[in-house]
Amino acid sequence: MIELGEAQEFVLSRVTPLAPRESPIEASRGCVVAAPVVASEAVPGFENSSMDGFALRASDTAAGHARLLITDAIHAGDVSSRSLDAGHAMRIMTGAPLPLGADCVCMIEETIVDAGVVAIERALAPGENVRHVGEDIAVGQELFSPGDVLNAAGIGVLAGQGRRSVLVHPRPRVGVLSTGNELARGDGPLGPGQIRDLNRPMLLALLEESGCVPVDLGTARDTREAITDSLRQALDHCDAVISTGGVSVGDVDFVKVVIGDLAAGDARWMQVAIKPGKPFAFGVAGPRRTPIFGLPGNPVSTRVGFEMFVRPALRTLAGHRVIERLTLDAVLESPLGRPTDGKVHLVHVKVTRGGDGDLRVTHSMRRGSHLLNAIVDANAIAIVDGNVPCDAGDRVRVLILDADSLGSRA
Ligand code: AMP
Ligand code: MG
Repeated sequence: MIELGEAQEFVLSRVTPLAPRESPIEASRGCVVAAPVVASEAVPGFENSSMDGFALRASDTAAGHARLLITDAIHAGDVSSRSLDAGHAMRIMTGAPLPLGADCVCMIEETIVDAGVVAIERALAPGENVRHVGEDIAVGQELFSPGDVLNAAGIGVLAGQGRRSVLVHPRPRVGVLSTGNELARGDGPLGPGQIRDLNRPMLLALLEESGCVPVDLGTARDTREAITDSLRQALDHCDAVISTGGVSVGDVDFVKVVIGDLAAGDARWMQVAIKPGKPFAFGVAGPRRTPIFGLPGNPVSTRVGFEMFVRPALRTLAGHRVIERLTLDAVLESPLGRPTDGKVHLVHVKVTRGGDGDLRVTHSMRRGSHLLNAIVDANAIAIVDGNVPCDAGDRVRVLILDADSLGSRA
């Protein structure tokens, strides 16, 4: 058996970010920027009002009050053809360009309008309620650096520069193959000894959640030829491939053999000191050194293997610098029993924020690598090393699967 860290290192030392590609900005949320993005346009691009009110000259209000003749109204999208003289004001709406001659805006709530004249009862300072050119973005400013992750606001910033596309590391296209003679094809009634394929739909969903492009490779029977065909074809159009089943010590567990064949020396079949998810095969194959992950077939093992080995590698392909999920300490509400077998136990749990803001493990799911329904409500995986005490009140490390579920209640 090898340590979890060694197995992870074997994988991560063999993956590098995918070559950058120009991507439409609308399709780039969550993608990693691959080249500096420099501003070519100032934002705001012109002096404009931040309020609905009156544009005027601050000097006209120096006495602490003023009565100004209203000479125009400027809406967002308009430009006044006149300039503003002393003693005058123009009605102005939020986002409309300041007229020439004006240097501030008095908000409508602070004015009284009567018979074409606006009365103001305080002194305004120049620049008040005016948005200045380049206040948010100056021409030449670096907006994004390589490694930055584009969020929704970032997409808006790029749109504000008139950009249609951006150079990013592409989303990895990841193929998912299920192996096993027992897997039923189609939705009809199950034949004797048959089961339905849980892993493939689960992994395709996990890939989507992880910002990848899922590619359904279907199922393969437990023969060396069938598995070789499926994986070899996938190498042509996938950036990574995940297969489940066939990596254990059964008579027809050929996936580990095929990964070894395809990777021609750069593969390893491992017994990792974790529970669940012990058997694992990995190699890089084909002209683009495409990673192939051979996860065990039990669905909870698949789920755990995805977290431990696949997800960090896919994030590396996608150019992310932060490839690990958030891990936090949480207090056990009840003891977390486990055998002292030298393995790292990966236990699906439910964590909740207590009144004091502390994370608490409130529930630990029924364990069994074949019990997928038992972990459906888990929002974290406790990573329990052999020696860590796990009594009520002890702290354990938890890997957060669903950070939204920890948000505070209104
Ligand atoms: P294996 O890793 O091929 O030895 O499979 C281990 C266990 O997982 C067996 O009970 C399989 O029937 C089951 N299994 C394998 N593939 C799947 C799958 N795609 N969906 C659900 N169970 C599976
Ligand atoms: Mg099998």
